[in-house]
Amino acid sequence: MKTNKPCPECKTIMELKKTTLHFEREEFYADVEDVSAYICPKCGTKSIPGKLAESIGNTVENLFKSARDAEETVEKDLSPSFSGISFHRTHALP
Ligand SMILES: [Zn+2]
Repeated sequence: MKTNKPCPECKTIMELKKTTLHFEREEFYADVEDVSAYICPKCGTKSIPGKLAESIGNTVENLFKSARDAEETVEKDLSPSFSGISFHRTHALP
């Protein structure tokens, strides 16, 4: 993998690190942890490789959609049906 990627903002060589991405849609939010990303050590700009950004985006969008569907299908007395979902790998990352 090419690692000498320059920052689009300040041209500093970016470092491959782990970061947390935060997404918000209406009444829900999702945090995706330990995402591999290029991060600029100077200005903090984050760049997620295209394929990874796409797969994370799809996962999160599906989650928001499922959560909304769950809200709409439960009886009024049971709503809100839940406050959040915790979703993790069973084995910790090295
Ligand atoms: Zn920068």
